[in-house]
Amino acid sequence: MAANPEWYRTPFEILNDLGITEPQDIDIEAIAEDCGATIRYLPLTGCAARIMGYKNRAIISIDENTRRPRQRFSAAHEVGHWMRDRGQLAFKCGSESFVREWSAENPETRANRFASDLLLPAKMFRAKAYKLPVTFETVRQIGDIFCTSLTATAIRLVEYGDLPAIIVCNGPRRREWFIPNGEVRGKIFLDARPGKGSIAEALLRGDRSDIAPREVRSDAWFDHRNAANYWVHEDSIPVYDGSVLSLLWWKDETQLIQIDNDIEARGAWRSDYRRDD
Ligand SMILES: [Zn+2]
Repeated sequence: MAANPEWYRTPFEILNDLGITEPQDIDIEAIAEDCGATIRYLPLTGCAARIMGYKNRAIISIDENTRRPRQRFSAAHEVGHWMRDRGQLAFKCGSESFVREWSAENPETRANRFASDLLLPAKMFRAKAYKLPVTFETVRQIGDIFCTSLTATAIRLVEYGDLPAIIVCNGPRRREWFIPNGEVRGKIFLDARPGKGSIAEALLRGDRSDIAPREVRSDAWFDHRNAANYWVHEDSIPVYDGSVLSLLWWKDETQLIQIDNDIEARGAWRSDYRRDD
């Protein structure tokens, strides 16, 4: 990744400079002004947000016909472009960027990471998410506190929650991205697509008849030796454009340790499986 320009401040530094310590004080308009950008709301077609900058000033335009959490995220995403990608062509950012661009290394992903660090800062988030189950119900509760969109809040819950968890986004034809937290990384590996018995597989087929969060067999998601003997909690919901977001989590580490031991017992298998990582 290119070095940060001299005007760059991290989201942590920006919040610190403004003395913001509580979720309700994360005022995106004031923060953008502090960074030299004015936010305006108007009807936009063809994109959810855009930024036009000249020298040290920028105008961020946000589609007035979207919900407030999405507007805030779009605005914070544009501030992210402004802090890092200033001097490049103006950016126009579509709704799909906010759902799909989370794992590749590109300006859209970096702007999304910037936005979530700004709107869902680690310390404040951990205080609110402590020991809560990794479900979209929890995501909605926390999203209400921080006034943030579903995808961004769900990723945060996986990253900063206390339980072993993975979030996966499957598009209609392929997996878009997945993010494991530190408790899971390197211990268990996802199949390319969710299998039969998972809620996500049904949703991708358009079957919404039974989407309540529940335990599903581990082999619906993971291909490890005794996958059929294990269970994982799944909560999946349809999101943008036929995509499905899934939260997968374990109540404690015991099962993961067991799986890890299985894998250790077959060392060669692990190196094979890394292809999917
Ligand atoms: Zn963008």
